[in-house]
Amino acid sequence: MFRPVLHLLLHVVVPGIVARFGGKRVCGGRDWKYVWFLLTATIIVDLDHLLAVPVYAPDRCSLGFHPLHSYWAVSVYSLMLLFPKARLIGLGLVIHMLLDGLDCVWMKLE
Ligand SMILES: [Zn+2]
Repeated sequence: MFRPVLHLLLHVVVPGIVARFGGKRVCGGRDWKYVWFLLTATIIVDLDHLLAVPVYAPDRCSLGFHPLHSYWAVSVYSLMLLFPKARLIGLGLVIHMLLDGLDCVWMKLE
């Protein structure tokens, strides 16, 4: 139970740290709390879990399983970093995928 709770917490805390300390490169003059909200809002990508049966499986690695967590999708999110208008959302999605990947590694070590 500890890992899933920490995982969810990291989906809020890590974007906050990136927004707060990323400076102008991340925020580009915008309020860091707004950027934090945008980065965290990319958790909406987890709606693809609703397509799975069961919807929640604590020992299932999201990466490569759910459609919006597939490797092609992660590639698209990474490419979004190249385009200024899509960069923040892309950054939020890449952070999300990295955290999901960390969760998968932790799962395998258990
Ligand atoms: Zn996810």
